[in-house]
Amino acid sequence: MIHYKIQPCSPEAHLFQVVLRVPQPEPKGQAFTLPAWIPGSYMIRDFAKNIVTLSAQCDGAKLDVRKLDKQTWKCEPCTAELIIEYQVYAWDLSVRSAHLDATHAYFNGTSVFLRAMGMERRPCQVEILPPEGENYRHWRLATTLPVLDAKPLGFGLFKAADYEELVDHPVEMGCFAYGSFDASGVVHEIVITGRHNADMARLREDLKAVCQLHIGFFGELPLMDRYLFQVMTVGDGYGGLEHRSSTSLVCSRADLPQKGRQEVTEGYRRFLGLCSHEYFHLWNVKRIRPAVFQGADLSKEAHTALLWLFEGITSYYDDLALVRSGRIKPESYLELLAQVITRVTRGSGRFKQTLAESSFDAWTKFYQQDENAPNAIVSYYTKGALAALALDLIIRQQTSGSKSLDDVMRALWAIHGRTDLGVQEGDMEALTQKVTGLDLGDFFNLALHSTEDLPLARLLEEVVAVGCRLRPARNQKDQGGIRKRGESSPAPGSTLGVRYKSNGSDVILTTVFDGGVAQQVGLSAGDVIIAMDGIRVPPSELDELVSSMPVDKTITVHAFRRDELMQFELRLRPPPSDTCELWLLDTTTSERKKERDSWLGISD
Ligand code: ZN
Repeated sequence: MIHYKIQPCSPEAHLFQVVLRVPQPEPKGQAFTLPAWIPGSYMIRDFAKNIVTLSAQCDGAKLDVRKLDKQTWKCEPCTAELIIEYQVYAWDLSVRSAHLDATHAYFNGTSVFLRAMGMERRPCQVEILPPEGENYRHWRLATTLPVLDAKPLGFGLFKAADYEELVDHPVEMGCFAYGSFDASGVVHEIVITGRHNADMARLREDLKAVCQLHIGFFGELPLMDRYLFQVMTVGDGYGGLEHRSSTSLVCSRADLPQKGRQEVTEGYRRFLGLCSHEYFHLWNVKRIRPAVFQGADLSKEAHTALLWLFEGITSYYDDLALVRSGRIKPESYLELLAQVITRVTRGSGRFKQTLAESSFDAWTKFYQQDENAPNAIVSYYTKGALAALALDLIIRQQTSGSKSLDDVMRALWAIHGRTDLGVQEGDMEALTQKVTGLDLGDFFNLALHSTEDLPLARLLEEVVAVGCRLRPARNQKDQGGIRKRGESSPAPGSTLGVRYKSNGSDVILTTVFDGGVAQQVGLSAGDVIIAMDGIRVPPSELDELVSSMPVDKTITVHAFRRDELMQFELRLRPPPSDTCELWLLDTTTSERKKERDSWLGISD
């Protein structure tokens, strides 16, 4: 048994103190290592850089410790219990590592628990203590680590069957808001840290509906004692990470449902979509997982071409579950779907990188995006979601509505999820054929291994009677959405072919799109636009000014680059048709109406 004790020793300095005891260390010298990445977030983060001090002792005597690489230590040989003491700096407010101050503490095991090498299969005990002092008397603790000796929401002793489990139950401590509900006979808890005005009763009701929808979808909840939504609210933030029986989320406090309000705001819809996404991961990626993630070596990258399956398909079902569970209206779902289509269509990177390549290179490309990302890569989340949609519609069309992607997902759960048989490349294609009787090899080649656009507009219209068209954007904020009845296309204006931000007074280019006029004359990301045709342009007016100018007009742009003033002459162009609008067609056959109702989960 490996024993850990962790305590915030200095919240003001953001330090955890960890004591690790190994009863029978390796006789030739015990080695310890900390992961370089956390499952679910595919980037090397080198958590060991946050270990500030580390010492070892045995039988009361100090031992020599040698560093072998950036994240591995080795102690001199000893024969009795080995004790390692170390401090970890925790000041990253994200769901991926650890954060500690006088208001709360949060950690993932991958950031704080050293792995005794060669002993990763041994069971672990973890003693978790609050910071010392009167100020922390009211702190409570929320985690799904199995309890050995602790009261509900209390500090104490916890256990894990092995290291992999130990680091898959993040821990939150502090004075948080608490709520719970039952789904499928299992207690689901919600813990919200940070200042907020959330309507917990409404949150419980909506999350319960979404969870039950997913449980019904797969037919059962994976075996677990309880489930935890661990929420951190901030002014402006968004993110989540999935775990085997919990999820850690960061959201804007304004996105939570406010007391006394009834509507589903865009922010609340986004928050429910995030919760739905992470909950779907309970099946798809935590249990139905790529073979390379099973017992993955967390010291280096684990490449897979299958992230489109785990993140793309999850991204397809996250919002779909909101309409199927009655949380949002069909039009609201189509608005979200149109925005996903817009996001994919806006980047010419989709003509350069396939979905399989996007998955494989997540570590260095998707997770390390720079100013050129829209021109160079495609997202396995958004394009993966569209591939899932296209696959679903094709199955529905070619089986006359007797099968759908839902059936394939249930088969994946039965064959790979329940049994923990890792998913290999090609398994999804073979299983789809087995479940539906269709040979969809050409479709999978197109969607995963080519850079051609998917035939979405045709499929949406033919299968589920949804109209789809692309039009020019009205302005930079225009993400597309639902087409309003009787609304005409915006009059064609002009565009520079850039994305920009404001530094308060000036426009700073953040992306210069391939093929746009800005790129043709050499304007670059980072350039500070000072004036157009000799007149200063406030950031708030740039969009309107450019779109009101006639196409083909030649203008002079002054910009600073490296503090040097530069001048560009450019001829304006019409904006590309890259903004998606969807709408429900009403002149439709009863089959298509029936299929649409089945797809959106609408019953008469
Ligand atoms: Zn995800």
